[in-house]
Amino acid sequence: MREQILNEALSIINNRGNQAEIKALENKRKALEDERFKGLYQDYTSSMIENAKQGKKSDLSTKKSAYEKRLKELKIDSVEPDYFCKKCNDSGYIEGKKCQCLKDELNRIILRESGFVSLEDFDNAKFDIFENGEYMKKVYSKMKEWCGSNFDKTVILLSGGTGVGKTHLSKCMANELIKKGHLVTLTTAFKMNQDFLKSYSSRDLEEKQALLEKYLSAEILFIDDLGTELVQKGITVNFLYQVLNERKSNKMPTVITTNLDLKDIRDTYDERISSRIIDKQTSICLQIDGKDLRLNKK
Ligand SMILES: [Zn+2]
Repeated sequence: MREQILNEALSIINNRGNQAEIKALENKRKALEDERFKGLYQDYTSSMIENAKQGKKSDLSTKKSAYEKRLKELKIDSVEPDYFCKKCNDSGYIEGKKCQCLKDELNRIILRESGFVSLEDFDNAKFDIFENGEYMKKVYSKMKEWCGSNFDKTVILLSGGTGVGKTHLSKCMANELIKKGHLVTLTTAFKMNQDFLKSYSSRDLEEKQALLEKYLSAEILFIDDLGTELVQKGITVNFLYQVLNERKSNKMPTVITTNLDLKDIRDTYDERISSRIIDKQTSICLQIDGKDLRLNKK
């Protein structure tokens, strides 16, 4: 997955570079039809070659502006490639390190693949819109800290009613994690349960496994709205246990948002599930009750 994303980003960047080089070559070919340009340009390039041969650094800017002036008269664009990123000339790397343009492209693809339609930023979070802003501030800062941790806490449970800021908080978290170079995957409990049911009823072993694979292999999995799916005892519960248990054993972080409280979780699923989710050693369970003042006014 990670390699695929890197290859896609690099191919976009290199493609931009190739386009710029092709355009420059076309411009040069056109310009060389002009004898005056040809003379000025050859004068410039032969001095450049001479410089390189003798390791000299004589100033070529006058010769360069001379041919560039002629280009302007001919109304032809530059014969040098106009790279999108001037820092790395659209190679994606500077001295072996990823250039910012490559990082930006990677983040764009990771966001597209994540399933999040939009993200929010921790830095722009406002707490005065909440009834208990001080508490929410602490919750946000704890979660920001978690995003930069080595994920000893593998399960994050954000529990609370509608309109208390769970979605906003998870968007901030996803953004922070993507910025740190992690791959995040968003699913809803509903969609995941559909896949559980399909996997359960499939007779094809490969398909059975493939339907679960994305939940098992996602680097950081966000499960939205746990408890809104139609829980089929024996199916939902078993599959959900498998996903949570395997992820936990492999130390792969899972972030769950839910309207259910801890007791509801035990009642809706079972003891095994709640013990996977609620475990002081390896989980953080937060009650989100930042009642949004704007909603209360309605
Ligand atoms: Zn670059």
